Amino acid sequence: MTSNKSQSSPHHVLVAGAGIGGLVTTLSLLHRGIDCDVYEQASELREVGAGLWVSANGARVLFELGLKDELERVAIGATERAIRLWNTGESWPLYEARTSAASHKPYVLLRAHLLRMLQEAVERLKPDAIHLNARCTGFIEGNGKVSLKFEDGSEAVGTALIGADGIHSKIREQSFGQVQSRYTNALAWRGLVPVDRLSPHQAKHAVYTWVGPLAHVTVYPVRWQDTSLLTFSAQVEHSGWQLESWSTKGDPKDCLKDFEGWHPDIIEMISAVDTLHKWGIFVREPLARWSAGRVTLLGDACHSMVPYLGQGVNMAIEDACVISRYLEANDDPVRAFELYEKERKQRAETTGQRAAEMQGIFHNSALASGETAGGYILSQWGPEQNAARFNWIYDYDATSVKLRSTNDLVEAEA
Ligand SMILES: Cc1cc2nc3c(=O)[nH]c(=O)nc-3n(C[C@H](O)[C@H](O)[C@H](O)COP(=O)(O)OP(=O)(O)OC[C@H]3O[C@@H](n4cnc5c(N)ncnc54)[C@H](O)[C@@H]3O)c2cc1C
Repeated sequence: MTSNKSQSSPHHVLVAGAGIGGLVTTLSLLHRGIDCDVYEQASELREVGAGLWVSANGARVLFELGLKDELERVAIGATERAIRLWNTGESWPLYEARTSAASHKPYVLLRAHLLRMLQEAVERLKPDAIHLNARCTGFIEGNGKVSLKFEDGSEAVGTALIGADGIHSKIREQSFGQVQSRYTNALAWRGLVPVDRLSPHQAKHAVYTWVGPLAHVTVYPVRWQDTSLLTFSAQVEHSGWQLESWSTKGDPKDCLKDFEGWHPDIIEMISAVDTLHKWGIFVREPLARWSAGRVTLLGDACHSMVPYLGQGVNMAIEDACVISRYLEANDDPVRAFELYEKERKQRAETTGQRAAEMQGIFHNSALASGETAGGYILSQWGPEQNAARFNWIYDYDATSVKLRSTNDLVEAEA
């Protein structure tokens, strides 16, 4: 990795929020020789208790940043991905290791592992780039600069600001006002289970999505040091308002009630859970704009999405790569942000829309009966449907997608 161009770059970028989007942005900017500091409200970058998957489109960005070996070391490359029926466990493969679609295999790992890997990579390039205990409250822009304000009354000054501060973004609020969120009548249970508490066949390196009439469960293996774990995310239709929080604890007994009648593998997994969280799944209407002057947004701050295509993390990683490429190519951050928004907005919003549509596909009344379930699954997850659903997501290469020029903006405005 290089950071020897920092003296020639006119930018000093401030990033609000050191989640995955903020850290990949910081790393990608430093990697391109652009000076950057990132400010995080939490006192440490740690989140045990949940897994995530880095799909091919996200992995390409991490590889470009020199993280291929490390990703392969800590993540599990799932050799099998299948749809399974909620009550019988019957399985329909999405791909197997020997097919060409296996190049789309996701890397599955704990969020904590990815955060640590990114933190260490940032610190190798700039040891003091990450500022913890720094809760951003707003910003002031003027005279070619942006000041980022913190809760303790201090401030940091840079030439541009990127709000990567997640679903409840303060930077978004100041730039574009309050954004309404809408509960989708579904909540998610997410849990971690040590594999040695489960029947041996559950230790397979496979990603399964179990589908049922009113719920679906995605299950995959992760590791933490020497322990093998299964992580699951179980989405259930539930009316009534729920909290949109990643950290609310859940009660396994309530979770089990939501899965009465499900296959013994699911029941065994929930019964043996170590850490269980639940969160309400919400959506927001697309923003009219992401950028205003020297300030822009990325990741969940501007395009939060339901988790049904596993793309929240991956879209934030793509944003991070693209925004840093535009800042590298443009001395004017205002122009860089306009071009970045032009490249990214439609893709991220379409992904969010497609993810939301999956709720009605995963949860379908045809799955209630053995007579209709198999036909329904084949009609939704056949090879053509899989290619149409996934290829445009996984094939996008943020590291090489052609950079747009100012003419693209002029044409759009005309
Ligand atoms: C704890 C946690 C658990 C998650 N679990 C899941 C999950 O199980 N499934 C799923 O689909 N998605 C999950 N997500 C969301 C998913 O990680 C994001 O969709 C994706 O990583 C894109 O993230 P982001 O960087 O845009 O935002 P986030 O990952 O939300 O990161 C935003 C960061 O900004 C920080 N921040 C927020 N406000 C301020 C402020 N005022 N000042 C300074 N820092 C601030 C936050 O502490 C956080 O570190 C989770 C997010 C978090 C934070």
